[in-house]
Amino acid sequence: MLISEIFHSLQGEGELAGMPSVFVRTAGCNLRCTWCDTPYASWSPEGKQMTVAEIVAEVSRHPAHHVVLTGGEPMLAPELPALAAALRAAGKHITIETAATVAPAGIACDLASLSPKLSSSTPPAAQFGAAWSERHESTRWQPAVVAAWLTAYDSQLKFVVACEADVAEIESLLGQLPTPPPRHKVLLMPEGTTRETLAARTPWLTALCRDRGYRFAPRLHIEWFGNRRGT
Ligand code: SF4
Repeated sequence: MLISEIFHSLQGEGELAGMPSVFVRTAGCNLRCTWCDTPYASWSPEGKQMTVAEIVAEVSRHPAHHVVLTGGEPMLAPELPALAAALRAAGKHITIETAATVAPAGIACDLASLSPKLSSSTPPAAQFGAAWSERHESTRWQPAVVAAWLTAYDSQLKFVVACEADVAEIESLLGQLPTPPPRHKVLLMPEGTTRETLAARTPWLTALCRDRGYRFAPRLHIEWFGNRRGT
């Protein structure tokens, strides 16, 4: 499968923030978020072809117990179930970071980190063409797929928030799920790839999380390392 990068770092987001982890980033995505911060794994996929055995060997060079399968959209890779099974056999804890547009189909996973995309992620036609705008918009939110993940796995539901209108949309989407998760399992992350943008959005979002019962999720890897590859 096409692997954009494999690196050892600290998880910067979510319930496992601070956890030493090996990140395996697949290349390729079925979405085109206008603000995507990993174009090398989505719009312009780059990397090298690796077998499952080669990936497991590279992961095993590092001491971390936790492995994060991320992208791009890792669930697009046909070999991902085999990779997850091999990592489980090796005793690893597996987090899958996905936009939850592809059903899990029984894949080995210890934490499903689900990050459905809001309407503000849809690119204007001028960015990638009208066809991509329509495809992104029709693909980004699939409540039955999100529900399948939530039902089958320990999960965290993460949303990127740029403004208060995003929160109203999140509440509308949660209402479309057959069994919405409790609000403390819903993580709201400020949108931004610089410390300055995150700092500007943090005060009102933390206050909103406190008042409505959501979990605020900082993007600690940007505070620690900046928006750099391999971190
Ligand atoms: S789903 Fe993730 S990788 Fe794909 S375009 Fe959106 S932000 Fe980028």
